[in-house]
Formats: sequence, C-alpha cells, structure tokens
Amino acid sequence: MTVLSVAVETPRHTRVAGLLDYASEQPLAPGTLVRVPLGRREVPGIVWPRPADAEPTEGLRPLAAALTSLPPLGAAWRELVEFAAAYYQRGVGELALSVLPPELRKLDDTQLARRLKRLAGAPPPAAGAPPERPSLSAEQAAALEALAGERKPMLLHGVTGSGKTEVYLRAADAALAAGGQALVLVPEINLTPQLEARFAARFPDRRMVSLHSALTPAQRLRHWLLAHSGEADLVLGTRLAVFASMPRLALIVVDEEHDPSFKQQEGARYSARDLAVWRAHRLGVPVLLGSATPSLESWQRVQEGRYRRLPMTQRIGGGAMPRVRLVDMSLLPRDDERVIAPPLQAAIAERLQRGEQSLLLLNRRGYAPVLHCGACGWKSGCPHCSAWRVFHKLDRTLRCHHCGLSEPVPRACPECGNLDIAPIGRGTEKLQEQLAALFPQARVGRLDADSTRGEGRLEQQLQAVHAGDVDILVGTQMLAKGHDFRRVTLVAAVNPDTALFSSDFRAPERLFALLMQAAGRAGRDAEQAARSEMWVQTWNPRHPLYAALRAHDYEAFAAAQLAERRAAGLPPFASLALLRADARTADAASGFLADASLLAQAHEGVTVYPAVPPHVSKVADVERMQMLVESASRVALQRMLAAWLPQLNEVRAGHKGLLRWAVDIDPLAI
Ligand code: ADP
Ligand code: ZN
Ligand code: ZN
Repeated sequence: MTVLSVAVETPRHTRVAGLLDYASEQPLAPGTLVRVPLGRREVPGIVWPRPADAEPTEGLRPLAAALTSLPPLGAAWRELVEFAAAYYQRGVGELALSVLPPELRKLDDTQLARRLKRLAGAPPPAAGAPPERPSLSAEQAAALEALAGERKPMLLHGVTGSGKTEVYLRAADAALAAGGQALVLVPEINLTPQLEARFAARFPDRRMVSLHSALTPAQRLRHWLLAHSGEADLVLGTRLAVFASMPRLALIVVDEEHDPSFKQQEGARYSARDLAVWRAHRLGVPVLLGSATPSLESWQRVQEGRYRRLPMTQRIGGGAMPRVRLVDMSLLPRDDERVIAPPLQAAIAERLQRGEQSLLLLNRRGYAPVLHCGACGWKSGCPHCSAWRVFHKLDRTLRCHHCGLSEPVPRACPECGNLDIAPIGRGTEKLQEQLAALFPQARVGRLDADSTRGEGRLEQQLQAVHAGDVDILVGTQMLAKGHDFRRVTLVAAVNPDTALFSSDFRAPERLFALLMQAAGRAGRDAEQAARSEMWVQTWNPRHPLYAALRAHDYEAFAAAQLAERRAAGLPPFASLALLRADARTADAASGFLADASLLAQAHEGVTVYPAVPPHVSKVADVERMQMLVESASRVALQRMLAAWLPQLNEVRAGHKGLLRWAVDIDPLAI
C-alpha cells in the first residue's frame, strides 16, 4: 500500500484543502489521472507530488481507478497549474481539472486507451510542395535576429500590416526545426481560422491542432491528446490553450496581446497572456507578444527593461497609415436625427463612386438602446436587471443584453396605453437603415453579434465583403478585429466619445486600441493607402487621445496614460484585486463587503476602497456589489489575499442573503 496525494476539485478557502490522501495498491507517477471516492461520490483527480512534510496516515480510502493509459501530466504543466492556482487564489485541483478537456473526466481507462490508439494510427500529414516564404523586410529580419539571442519576453510592436504574422511563422519554424512544439494564442475563436490557414500553408507536413471553446467535446479531447502526446507540433488556440499540455514546448506567441479576451471572466479569472509569459520564462523558451497597441502593462515593462521591444513601424509594401480626420460635431447645427456629418457623407459617396468599401463602427447592437413613451415617461427597462432592454427592429423584440430576456415589442405603452412609443438613440440596425436611406444605390451590410449568430454566418458575411458584395459595412468592434479587407479605404467611428468619460480607467486605452485597429483595416493595399482615411465623429476634437490617434502615435498616448496612472496609483504602478459579492439584496451584498473590509484592516500594505455597485448592478434579479483592494506591491497583495480570503469564507455563513463571492486578481473591467 502506498499513500498518494490527489488534487481534486474542492474549492479553496474551505476546510478541505486542494490535496487529499488516498491509498493505492501500486505507486503511481505524479500527473496520473485517477478517480477517487469523495463523500458518497466518485470524482476525477490527478496524482500530485506528496508534500515532504506530509504526516503518515492510516485508514485511508483506496483509489477507485487509475487511468494509466494516459501518459502522466508533466512536472512543468503541474508547476504552471500550481502557480496559477496560487496567484489567482483557487484550489490546485479545481484549476487543474477545469482546464483539462471535459471528456477526460468521463472516460474510463479502456475507453481512453482506445482513443489514444486511434490517434497513434492516424496518418501524419502528407508532405506537400515546399511552401513559399517571402523574403523578410529589414524590420522582420531585425526582430527575428533579436529573438534568437534574447531571454527576455519580447514585445513585437508592429503597426497593422507590418508583417507580424510572418515573424510568428519564422519563429515557429525555428522552434519546430529544433524538435520543439509551438503554442500560438489568439484572442478570439473567429480569428483562429485565418491564422490556422496561414500556418497550415507554411507547415504542410506538420500536425497542427486548435484548442478553443467552439470545438465539440470529442474534438477538444482529440486535439488536447495530440498536443499532450507530442504528436501535434503546433497548437493554436484561445486563452484556454495556455494550459495545453505540451511536453516539447519551445515557443509561445501571443497575438494581439493587449486584447481583453485573454482574461478569463469566470472561475479562476486568469490572464492567459500573463501565464504565457510565466510559462515561457519558467521553461526558458522565447515568448513573443505581438500588438500594434500594446497593453500599458507590457509597455511599462519595456520601459523598465524587463521586456524587449521589437519595433516594426513600416507596413509591408510601404503603404502609409490612413489619414485621420476628426469631425467636430459641436460645430454642426444641432440635429438629433443626424447620423453622419455632411463631410463624412461626402467622403463615403466618393468611395461608392470609385467602387471602394467603407466600414462604419458603432459599439452598440440592436436598433435602439431604449424605447420610450413620450406621454408618461415609460422606458423599456428590464424587470430583472438594472438596464434597458434594447429594441431590435428586425424581429420586433425588446431584448435584455444582460439576462437574455426577450419579448415582443408592445403595441402600446404598457403603463398608459399610448400608441406612440419611440426608440431613443441608435444601434447598428438603425445605423444600417439610415445609411441605406442616405445611399439608396449602395449595398449596406451589418456585422455584429446578432448578424453573425449561427454556424458559418460570420464566414459567409466576411466572404461577401471580400467578394465586393457590400459597399458599406456597419458593425460593432467585431469589425475592427484582424480581418484583412482589401478594398476598404474609409473607416469611420460614428460615436466613440462615451469611452472618454467612462469611470473605468482602462476605457481610453481600449478605445485607442480599437480605433488604431480599425484604422488598420483601411488601405491594406499599398496603392489604395494614399487615399485611405479614418474618420472620427466627436464632440471633443481636442482630446489628447484623438491628437495621438491623428499622429498614429501610440508612444505619446502610452506616455500620457502612464503618467496619469502613475499619479493616480493605478496599474501598472499598483496591483489590484476586486472582491465581488452577489446577493438577493443590495444590502446583503454590502453587508458582506463591510465585514470583509473590517477584516482587511488587520492586513498591512493594502488599501481597501469603499464597496460600490458595478456599472450594471442588478442582473437576472441578483444584486451585485464590488470592492477594490489595492497595493503598491504585488507580493504584499498576494500575501494579504492568501490570509484574507479564508477569513471571508468563515464570515460568509453569517450573511444569509449572500449567493456567492469571488475575487478577481488583476481585474480588467472595473
Ligand atoms: P500584421 O499581422 O502585422 O498586421 P501581416 O502579417 O498580416 O501583418 O502582413 C501583412 C501582409 O503582408 C500579409 O498579406 C502578408 O502576407 C504580407 N507580408 C508579410 N511579410 C511579408 C514579406 N516579408 N514580404 C512580402 N509580403 C509580406
Ligand atoms: Zn406611457
Ligand atoms: Zn435583464
């Protein structure tokens, strides 16, 4: 009989810690998947190294089963999980099991052995014609040269179209040639097919797998197993892929490293970008963070000399960045129905005449954000959330974008019976309608979460844009991301100002990145670049953010933002954690946070801010409150959280109305 420590899915901060002891007939290597009894259930677990100071124990329950056909999860993978669990304050077993493919928990050893055998039998990709490789630009060559000799994380700071992907491809080539595996992370599933196609074309004789949440459970298992067994050389995926088990990992690429999608928004709220940097550092392999508008966290690390910047300032083919034109809306006669200022309208008309395309960005889907009764003042609020229900004209519904409640639009005001209820404000549906009215001869398309719902819809719509079947494309930020549109010579942000005055200190950073990225959609063909324009309709044309945009000057923008952040003691100059409480009533949520705040007073080196409701305080009849904890030192914050969170778990019993609490380390949305 041997004693084994097993990581099981018990949340941390409860009496049962992450590791439990079991008896086993035979010794099992750490990293072996097992099934163990827990209470009356049988749960999956992973054999973990037994702590050296563990007490000898007797009368232990035996393991239920060991899945020995699967090669054990390696030490490097377990260290990554341990680090992430400690940093994000979760249980080791909870995190470890949540990042494995769900199918792995369901199969028994025989089924698993069969899957593995089938994988081993699959023929390797056929060696096709040797791929064409463009000769490198001077900047690409310099970046790759730096990459070869550098141990620091590298920030590939390249404007849109500067050829960052070619640098990823060459870096991957070097890693694969040396017998390694390469991991490439992208922010969104929508962007994986394009990148996958480019990698597949470059490495026709290599096996590549994708890992993201849109795969079927069987696909995800298959892809994960191929990576884990070392059969796949390339793994391309979204944030969850940062936890892929890759025994020969030799390179990590994080494309669009500034994108908020790399932060998980539930459970262990990890940052895949930050974990990628940690993982690469631990393994001593290169990590390449690519962006045209790096996160201020990464940029500050470059300033401190902890990351190395690899600049790429020229577009391939020499095209200029589009000219930025600000329309001062405050100078125009007031007109609530005006969508598009006359000069922008004229600029779009010019594109129509030349057969070029225009992209119009509006970050609000639906027809109008709210319906309103002029007689009694009724507005289309959601009964379950502190938010308006959005009017969708196409299917005549009022929809809550927070809880999903959807109802037919009432014929008359539900309060007073007035027949004349009207939409206020404008969403993408309305913008599309208004543009169609302004330009009756144009084909006006729309790209947002509504228009792309359903299998293959997004690809279809993108295809239509590429084929030239659309003259004007209206859409949300989805438009700005990565799509390589060739005939676009005008991009316009219709109403971006709101982000300038948001209470979230990261809103300007996100807006700047979005506008720069959108601008990058225009003039990707060098010959069109000269007449490409980015238009911004604004009531604040003198805002420094727009001045920096106009000059395509990321560095000036970053310097100004960082100066503000430093003065205000905000990240990256301080570390934050956000404690969230969800409850039946706002009082119950506040009560818990008040107790938490009292307990926090005993801990040094941190500042605890008053509890406040988030932007949308009630969702689906749950009241939410949140409280920010800040420290100038990441280590001090970590130490404080490790002591404080178990205390919170104890006081929680005294708060009956509390539904759940959670802590978000390095929160992105505040
Ligand atoms: P980014 O990712 O920086 O926006 P891309 O990697 O998409 O830029 O490159 C822009 C375009 O330039 C792509 O069509 C790509 O195939 C092409 N390209 C990249 N590097 C080279 C090169 N060295 N020579 C010729 N074309 C290149
Ligand atoms: Zn009314
Ligand atoms: Zn709702």
